[in-house]
Amino acid sequence: MAAANWKMNLTLQQGEQLLTDILLKTNELKAHQQAVFAVPFPYLSMAVNKLAGKNNFFVAAQNCSNKKSGAYTGEVSVEILQSVGIEYVVLGHSERREYFNESNQLLAEKLDICLANNMKPIFCCGEPLAIREANTQNEFVAKQLAESLYHLSAAQLQEIVIAYEPIWAIGTGKTATSAQAQEIHAFIRTELANKYGTAIADTISILYGGSVKASNAVELFSQPDVDGGLVGGASLIVDEFVAIINALP
Ligand code: PEP
Repeated sequence: MAAANWKMNLTLQQGEQLLTDILLKTNELKAHQQAVFAVPFPYLSMAVNKLAGKNNFFVAAQNCSNKKSGAYTGEVSVEILQSVGIEYVVLGHSERREYFNESNQLLAEKLDICLANNMKPIFCCGEPLAIREANTQNEFVAKQLAESLYHLSAAQLQEIVIAYEPIWAIGTGKTATSAQAQEIHAFIRTELANKYGTAIADTISILYGGSVKASNAVELFSQPDVDGGLVGGASLIVDEFVAIINALP
């Protein structure tokens, strides 16, 4: 999976043009390949219409509420997202964790409401620079997984895509080396295997995020435990994102 995270960028018109251009330049995806566009809430319907009938192209929200419905001004529920045709939602992006205080516990609630309603989460995890410098990234990520995911059944876990995104590599131009990415992706898969068994862990897609671009995507995606990417900056540039889609294994 190549997932584009537009964050709070582009106008509706720019977003529509970007999708038009990407679709023009992208060949049919193979059965196991997926391109996902996480666009701002007001553009969801535009993106759903634009991608209608395109095999393996999907639209994602960048967040959703942990509440079902009701008096939560400014929030967007899973039901609302589904009513406009959305199948994926990005949860726990480091920017949500940092600027909007999203905790592992809150994310566990968001995962629950998604999974109870057939909404597929792209669950983000990853460590800040200080943790990487202290070489305690494995413990940090293991705690994020345990506190947000490990109450789920195996069947529920299989509905989730995991995105490992080291915070020090997001929007910084600094990419984890392919060896660093592989090492922690393999660690994540082993953790999942310890909890759910190898057969289940092997079916989970683990994306890498953090300054993925056309020039490093092939190398990153060729690692055995890197199943694709979650892409910010480069997803806003037609040729970059098309090349990233083409780099999918
Ligand atoms: C992201 O938004 O999740 C991300 C990884 O951003 P960038 O590709 O710009 O580092």
